[in-house]
Amino acid sequence: MSFMVSAQKPALLKLKFEENYSPTYYETIEMFQLLDKNYENAVLLEKGLTDCGKPLHLFVINSEPEFNPEKIRQQGKTILLINNGIHPGEPEGIDASLWFADDILRNKDGLAKLLEKTVIIIIPVYNIGGHLNRSAFNRSGQTTPYETGFRGNYANYDLNRDFTKCDSENARSFNKIFMEWNPDIFLDTHTTNGSDHQYSITLIPPSFALYPPVMEKFIRNKLIPDLYSEMKKGKYELIPYVNYIFDDPRKGIVAEHEGPRYSSGFASMFHSIGMITENQIYHDFADRVKSCYQFIWVLVEFMSENSEAIKKSRFDGMKESLAMK
Ligand SMILES: [Zn+2]
Repeated sequence: MSFMVSAQKPALLKLKFEENYSPTYYETIEMFQLLDKNYENAVLLEKGLTDCGKPLHLFVINSEPEFNPEKIRQQGKTILLINNGIHPGEPEGIDASLWFADDILRNKDGLAKLLEKTVIIIIPVYNIGGHLNRSAFNRSGQTTPYETGFRGNYANYDLNRDFTKCDSENARSFNKIFMEWNPDIFLDTHTTNGSDHQYSITLIPPSFALYPPVMEKFIRNKLIPDLYSEMKKGKYELIPYVNYIFDDPRKGIVAEHEGPRYSSGFASMFHSIGMITENQIYHDFADRVKSCYQFIWVLVEFMSENSEAIKKSRFDGMKESLAMK
């Protein structure tokens, strides 16, 4: 079956981020189920369990009803994995992913053409136990959205330290998803309360030192500059994650090394390009969601336009890693 250009359809989802409301776990899954029911080229899968006993979901968006990762790879498509709600108090990615999924499936502004070369897979909520533990007081200094989930999971683990140790069912299920789908690019969505400035969204780029030189060059010279310059063309400019040295911005900012126990470091072990968005909590929640949406759009567009270069970079990177002494 080949990709067919279709007219723009009406939106199916009613998100309420403008009213400082982010969906509950059940509302999130119901919305992905609605998209699954209405579009034959999307499916909501259950992929193993999580610590609270509920299944980990994976939402797959392709240009056609093909959801077998091996077949998708054979077709030469690149795969983007987006992980949301690892820290459920940081929910912008949950809203933005639902919104973007709805828009790309209904072909808003011709967006569906980006699916010709790229398949998008989304974990709606990774820390389900934490997301169910909802309150207005889960994060100090954060007043919007009105309610969010809690950072610790059902067993009170910080899941963004557990990708290699795998004490949690969540991490074990995630590992299987990662092995099965082998995403070319991995995005984990977060929110920071560690800095205050005029930007709604910041990026923790892939840690260069974790990649073989050929991939480092591609990330440093092509991917990152493109993401920053494309974001600048939209309403929400992207800046690097602001991590002060000695609590003083005048002394500069520093990028920390994120090894494999973190999501982005975990991705690097498979020559998958892992990155993290950090929205900034002191901004309006709607702006945080919109800037996260804009970033997902820019990233999918980059993948669609550079799918051959991404695949080549990973292929050459793996060869380079194998030959290293
Ligand atoms: Zn976080």
